[in-house]
Amino acid sequence: MSHRELYCDVCEGVALFEVPPCVDGHGIDCPELICTGCGAAVVIATFMVPVSRSAEGRRHRPARRAA
Ligand SMILES: [Zn+2]
Ligand SMILES: [Zn+2]
Repeated sequence: MSHRELYCDVCEGVALFEVPPCVDGHGIDCPELICTGCGAAVVIATFMVPVSRSAEGRRHRPARRAA
């Protein structure tokens, strides 16, 4: 069982997270973590999502300038 400190939105601060009992067979590689402070679940995989993803959705709008 590994623990790590991450920012928790619910606790509004850094809290200690632990790997929950995994039912998917991930074992220690399970991407889920549970906040030991409030019990909120987070998925570590979200940290690997490129930040540009949100910018990608705004491509519909032409970036053309008048003038
Ligand atoms: Zn898992
Ligand atoms: Zn928390």
